[in-house]
Amino acid sequence: MQDQRGGGSLAPEQPSGDLVVAGGTVVTAGGVAPLDIRIAAGQISEIGPGLDGGPDTVDATGLLVFPGMVDTHVHLMDPGPTDREDFPTGTAAAAARGVTTIVEHTHARPIRDARDLHDKRRHLAERAHVDYGLAAHVWPDRIRDLPDLWAAGVTFFKLFTCTTHGVPGLNAADTRDALQVIAGVDGRALVHCEDESLTSTDEHRLRAAGRTDGALVAEWRSREAELVAVAVVTELARLTGARVTIAHVSSPAVADVISAARRRGADLAAEACPQYFLLREQELQTEGALRKFTPPARARSDTDEETMWTLLRSGKLTHVSSDHAPSTRAQKAAGDIWDVHFGLPGLDTTLPLLLDAALRGRLSLEDLARVYAEAPARRYGLYPRKGHLGPGADGDLLLIDPDSEEELTDERVLSKAGWTPYAGRRVRGGHVATVLRGRVIAEHGRPSEGFDGRFLPGPGATTTKEAT
Ligand SMILES: [Zn+2]
Repeated sequence: MQDQRGGGSLAPEQPSGDLVVAGGTVVTAGGVAPLDIRIAAGQISEIGPGLDGGPDTVDATGLLVFPGMVDTHVHLMDPGPTDREDFPTGTAAAAARGVTTIVEHTHARPIRDARDLHDKRRHLAERAHVDYGLAAHVWPDRIRDLPDLWAAGVTFFKLFTCTTHGVPGLNAADTRDALQVIAGVDGRALVHCEDESLTSTDEHRLRAAGRTDGALVAEWRSREAELVAVAVVTELARLTGARVTIAHVSSPAVADVISAARRRGADLAAEACPQYFLLREQELQTEGALRKFTPPARARSDTDEETMWTLLRSGKLTHVSSDHAPSTRAQKAAGDIWDVHFGLPGLDTTLPLLLDAALRGRLSLEDLARVYAEAPARRYGLYPRKGHLGPGADGDLLLIDPDSEEELTDERVLSKAGWTPYAGRRVRGGHVATVLRGRVIAEHGRPSEGFDGRFLPGPGATTTKEAT
């Protein structure tokens, strides 16, 4: 075994089955402690001090050992518009940055029935560096198909309250009916909340005024449009008893609406994304399409950012996802602000940005393990196999050097996007290795050869039979 700091390989040359990660500081949502971890046949078999290692021992002295991260809101466009992203490139970015599990859905090629899921699973065989679940989309006229789809093994159902990215919006009645069916199978829903009548009325007004500037995005996809939809959806979640995640909560006001509904008995998770902590609303004026995502950034000041971190520490924002939805710079430059795709690349930067926040004291290390590993895994039925360090869990680990630092740059982005809105930021913490089921799949920010990622059936799957 060579020294991990010198850029040498951590991967045992001849894997014998057992891998011991020794001498590191293990970080979980429950605490931080100096412990060793043994992985046998892909699963954690033992955690404790002073484990005997064999030739396959990784020296983690001075390193932090986290569970592999779990990103449950990812769009890899595959099959679909693979000129924007595909599974090999998107999961390479995930592996290189410590994400060992993703839950993916692609709007341009939605999964709407069990056949679609089967076909997508076949297509993705040997295309993923990390493990993956797949989510389905709810179409207003396909609600009765949802129980079959849940039994076929999707991780959650994605609903839109407004027509976006070509996915039809569900009105309140359709949303209620869909959530009722989802509650009936103990399913999970992720809901994109923007009110259709408000966004479409504002779109007509802004177009009639001839507006094509970047700032229009914040008026088109307004705070009110998000708040109104969140109020309706959280009430319907309470009414139906469905387990609902409100996607990409953009501001403290939205988090407050969710917290209030939770107090009245709704089973709600509130998903946070780095762009609502670290990008500013006013950047739309200067960056235009490169900041076109929806809901758009709302923070206007340091105080706004600080409030978001407080909500994440407290658990009112329950977990973090990237909402990785990349386009290249050329794609973001083709057409006016109305025409270009919504979305940002995120898998390359979400862990580095959260790690930096933790190493600067905006979060605790335990908070990081909670919000980007344990909590999302629990929410979507992946826990304790994923998002967890304990006997029986998959041997998915992330090794981090807390003493190193890096500058985020476009050049280091592995996503097909080839750029990041965070370029130029210096972040604390350095990637040393990512381990998936006992195998090193990335070192020093570089993914290994080969596709080891496997499909993860959702919690409602009635069969685990592989489709391929
Ligand atoms: Zn999304």
